[in-house]
Amino acid sequence: MMLFMPTIVFSERDCVKGHGNELALMGSKAMIVTGKQSSRINGSLSDVEAVLKEQNIPYIIFDEIEENPSVETVMKARQKGIEENVDFIIGIGGGSPLDASKAIALMIANPEKDESVLYESTPLSYIPVACIPTTCGTGSEVTPYAILTLHKQRTKKSISHKIYPTAAFIDGKYLHTASRANIVNTAVDALAHLVESYLNTNSNELNRIYSREGLMMWGSFKDKLLENKITEEDYNNLMHTSMIGGMAITHTGTSLPHGLSYMVTYELGVPHGKAVGMFLGGYVSVYKDKREAENVLKLLGFESCDKFQSYLKAILGEVTLPEGMMEKNADLILANKAKLKNYPFDITREEIMAMV
Ligand code: NAP
Ligand code: ZN
Repeated sequence: MMLFMPTIVFSERDCVKGHGNELALMGSKAMIVTGKQSSRINGSLSDVEAVLKEQNIPYIIFDEIEENPSVETVMKARQKGIEENVDFIIGIGGGSPLDASKAIALMIANPEKDESVLYESTPLSYIPVACIPTTCGTGSEVTPYAILTLHKQRTKKSISHKIYPTAAFIDGKYLHTASRANIVNTAVDALAHLVESYLNTNSNELNRIYSREGLMMWGSFKDKLLENKITEEDYNNLMHTSMIGGMAITHTGTSLPHGLSYMVTYELGVPHGKAVGMFLGGYVSVYKDKREAENVLKLLGFESCDKFQSYLKAILGEVTLPEGMMEKNADLILANKAKLKNYPFDITREEIMAMV
């Protein structure tokens, strides 16, 4: 068993302002990497700018990261970062800007390489990355993963390199502008990380410290999510659970629901958490070790898998897949050795088809 969680985490109200010196220690010129709008509205960008100004750290802003960021956008940001001589990155936003920040950090540190190295296994250096999450799902602020859209392959794929953020600044206050749908979808992504980490070939008693704790925390606010009674007081719990989910998958990786989600997101534009959530109830129901599956349900506080599945349908709403898509998806996942190896048993095409 092995545990490695190298990111320094600051988790408290106003932690960006409170630990500005930590950001200043990371380099001499920053590139802030963010989405088009939300960080300007929820206050996270102005918090970071205030700290950088106070610490006399020059910076530029790249605010063109789209949802499910593409390799093309990463390369555009890399170009800007090199031209401007930046030596560290501050990612602000949901998983999309945070993941993009990691890939950009790798590409800036290797200016002579082209985009193909993102998916090659030779280890490469990267410049430091700080992450400030503003959604409560991906845990990307602590994971070494970066998932990019590959338009040429019409799908999404995690880059081959493990890029651990140097520091994460976690403050639930940034969620106050998030819509109910955004909170629900991203919270279900965190749930999927916890479930897929617990029910995973790589799970063990050491890394289940994360998934077990996270599942209990998720269970504590599940009714509020369903009844739309989430208040500002719950934001820190949502963020914290998302971070724990990130710590869990850092050690185990994700499994079949994530693998099945990518086509649904690419082809239908379904948000990541919702696309993963479509397969999550089915995953628990099909999972061969029934005792372990029951443990997950108990930790979450569900009496049965049927109740878990109805709950997910109630909070996420139904998505109807076009004819033939699930068959194609099942065939692709059966050919995806990287995802299959995280499922500890043999699995049939029929079992995969039953996950939706
Ligand atoms: P996202 O794609 O980062 O953002 C979704 C939307 O939410 C964007 O329109 C964004 O606006 C908006 N938004 C962000 N924060 C907000 C806030 N506080 N208030 C209001 N709106 C806000 O969503 P995500 O679900 O967090 O990230 C999904 C991505 O992460 C996917 O690409 C997925 O594959 C990846 N992922 C990575 C990991 C990992 O371990 N690295 C794990 C799971 C998923 P703006 O565009 O204006 O910012
Ligand atoms: Zn996810």
